Amino acid sequence: MELTLEVIPKSTWGKNVRSEYKSDWDKIRKLVYQKAMMKCQICYEKQETLHAHEVWEFDEEDHIQKLVDIIGICEDCHNTIHYGRAKLVGTDQEAKEHFMKVNECDELDWMLAVQEVSIKSMKRNKIKDWKLDLSLVEEYLK
Ligand SMILES: [Zn+2]
Repeated sequence: MELTLEVIPKSTWGKNVRSEYKSDWDKIRKLVYQKAMMKCQICYEKQETLHAHEVWEFDEEDHIQKLVDIIGICEDCHNTIHYGRAKLVGTDQEAKEHFMKVNECDELDWMLAVQEVSIKSMKRNKIKDWKLDLSLVEEYLK
């Protein structure tokens, strides 16, 4: 899987599978780790610990933020995907290096990706009433 930068609109920060399914979160994330077999599902490096990462689709027409997958990924990939957060906590240099390594690309590709995600961010933050579609979670709770 390609490593891309992602942005969650401000209006849904803190609202996710973990917050909405508190008592089931442990079960869900263990299923995710099992499926990943302790390998990052983006860079394929073997890991001691994984992070459960929610993959979303954004429907800007109907303002729906839909959960489409939950994957097990490494700390470096997670840091890179959430580049906005990485900038805030000062790990953006690591994000850049990891992005170029995993995607085997150069600094120009990185700069284009940063530009693309900042445009995405502006578009998504213009919408203030995103609705979460977490129906995928039911698949994990069967
Ligand atoms: Zn990784």
